[in-house]
Amino acid sequence: MQELLKQVFGYDSFYPLQQEIIASVMQGRDTLAIMPTGGGKSLCYQLPAIKMTGMAIVVSPLIALMKDQVDQLRVSGVAVALINSSLSGAEIAQVQRAAQAGQIKILYIAPERLAAMGFASFIRDLPISLIAIDEAHCISEWGHDFRPDYRELRILRQWFPRVPMMALTATATDKVRADIVTQLQLREPAVFLASFDRPNLKYVVMPKKGMATSLHDLLDKYRGQSCIVYCFSRKGTEELAESLQHSGFKAAAYHGGLDSATRSHVQDQFIRDEIDMIIATIAFGMGIDKSNVRLVVHCDLPKSVEAYYQETGRAGRDGLPAECVLFFSHGDRRKHAFFIDQLETEAEQQKAWAKLEEVLRFGDLSTCRRQYLLGHFGEVMPRDKCDNCDNCLGETVQVDATDVTRTILTAVQATRESFGIGYVASVLLGKSDERSERFNHHLLPVFGTLKAHKKTELVSIIRQLISLHLLAQSTGEYPVLLMTPKGRDFLEQKQSLSLSSSMQPKSGKGLDQSIDAMPVDPILFDRLRILRKSLADQRGVPPYVIFGDKTLREMAAYFPQSETSLLQTFGVGRQKWEQFGLEFLGVVRDYARETGVNEIQRAVSRSPAPKYLGVTYSQTRELLRSGLGLEAIAARRGLVPATVLGHIEKLLQQEPDLSIEHLRPDESQLEIIHRALAAAGWSLVAAKENLGEKYSYEAIRLARIFLRRNQD
Ligand code: ADP
Ligand code: ZN
Repeated sequence: MQELLKQVFGYDSFYPLQQEIIASVMQGRDTLAIMPTGGGKSLCYQLPAIKMTGMAIVVSPLIALMKDQVDQLRVSGVAVALINSSLSGAEIAQVQRAAQAGQIKILYIAPERLAAMGFASFIRDLPISLIAIDEAHCISEWGHDFRPDYRELRILRQWFPRVPMMALTATATDKVRADIVTQLQLREPAVFLASFDRPNLKYVVMPKKGMATSLHDLLDKYRGQSCIVYCFSRKGTEELAESLQHSGFKAAAYHGGLDSATRSHVQDQFIRDEIDMIIATIAFGMGIDKSNVRLVVHCDLPKSVEAYYQETGRAGRDGLPAECVLFFSHGDRRKHAFFIDQLETEAEQQKAWAKLEEVLRFGDLSTCRRQYLLGHFGEVMPRDKCDNCDNCLGETVQVDATDVTRTILTAVQATRESFGIGYVASVLLGKSDERSERFNHHLLPVFGTLKAHKKTELVSIIRQLISLHLLAQSTGEYPVLLMTPKGRDFLEQKQSLSLSSSMQPKSGKGLDQSIDAMPVDPILFDRLRILRKSLADQRGVPPYVIFGDKTLREMAAYFPQSETSLLQTFGVGRQKWEQFGLEFLGVVRDYARETGVNEIQRAVSRSPAPKYLGVTYSQTRELLRSGLGLEAIAARRGLVPATVLGHIEKLLQQEPDLSIEHLRPDESQLEIIHRALAAAGWSLVAAKENLGEKYSYEAIRLARIFLRRNQD
């Protein structure tokens, strides 16, 4: 399978759970796979389908997505076809003949085909190897995307009682999961649930205030790369698209009010890299599978955390760094009121408000945003910090908030937990009005004690206290502040607290311009992109069907100039080499000749760096593996040796077998340092004091790495 993975798709290793899922299918077991967007679901049925004898059936609900997959497989040399409503009768007959002649390995079909005249007799006579149901949650009424056609899929089990069936989805609550199993009559299915973490996505929240400027700056940073900007209203998308066009961006609006020709034109241009920015209502995104979206912006509040996760999930499907930015204001809560009011029952409305409240909490967080998102899907992050959200990256400033917190909590108690955030803030600011006088709140000791603050500041602090569970809010349109047990403890036990003063967090630097250890040459990258575009246009397919961005970036970093080295490149399989290899080599060779740059040899083993560590770690790792010493790595990277040692320690945690033997101090040195460390309870500082000038901190720390390793 590993070989097939490289040969057909050009990838070196599997994503988490792919291998396990494939093994389960190959054993003939029914299998349910739940993986996040970009987790690599398609490969889980494509590889077994290629390997097994007979033809696999893949059911997929979206014509655009189906076409995309078929294009991609075809370019990779897989015998694949599709049957859906976009085909004429004659075309369908042709596909059927090819299937009967055994010329097709994978047949994609739309669910409604099952009920079509003559389909049953056609399909039942064929040697079917595997049945895969993509977007399997569509079968459940409990899910968010129920499609009645999916109910027809039950018939497949009757037609093919012995063929292994797999169901794949990115979203499934327990209830939906159980429903999928029942509806499809899966038999003792093996269930695989992948982590929903998307480590390459960076989450950033920025204040809505001043958005016009900061959005412009943000998009400027991503000029020439694919971005999706979500707005709440159709009018909002059009106005923004227009103003961006005026600023020279290749942007277009997309929303449900446009006629379908315009919509598919815009979508097409985006997929073909002809426009960079889609300014859309949430109507956009379903059924597009563009892997190189680098930035997803929300200008308004999403309606729930699930929706936010899904919408931001459209970024970075190629695994390269991508950024998700939310422009955040509590004021936007109001925009949702109109829609929520239209929900039929009180209960539904309450639920919708509660979901919105969770989004507000996400915006207010002063702790790790990824942890919050994952927690939402019942997943516990193994670490406290992800190092890839604004809060973990310290892009927000921490200030002591002990006194303010005590005062606020006291005010909530003193007003008997019966008022909302705005009112409590006014009391603290000393604003008296008819209401405060009616309740005698102007006589409270806390009245006016936080006069020195701005109202927006106080409100923001109160929000953060809610997100820290020191306060809670009732649900409904007019929520009141409530004390929590944690809040009471805080008051009683005189605890202290720092909060982020998140008035102006900055977003990151955009896509890091390097892959592994090597910088990407922007001129070569552009030339490769131009070649890719023309090859794609000739074939009438989107550019990423030819090669993904990651592949081009690797070429522009390593300058491969032979068949062997091009085949070592990520995403270059046998078939793609044969179709496009020489042309890409030609561009690289020409450029190398012009600039006098040589091909860069890769380290021999190419097992990928642990994904969740950032680029800076993989650069250190690559240099380590090319045999460089500590000083040399530090010099190459422009870092101090201590930082490199930090990298090594962290890398070893993820990858204990990492080869660092060439850094090993000699035995007598190790021995001396060992004694000093043991005597000092393994504290560097204490050991250094004992050892004196003769040994540097770095030497001791390096020795400690080896000593700990021996112990393990
Ligand atoms: P999903 O359907 O789960 O959202 P896809 O199957 O579309 O994800 O895969 C997302 C992207 O990741 C695709 O571009 C795919 O080619 C790529 N991919 C899948 N598996 C691997 C792998 N093992 N190594 C590298 N890239 C992969
Ligand atoms: Zn984080």
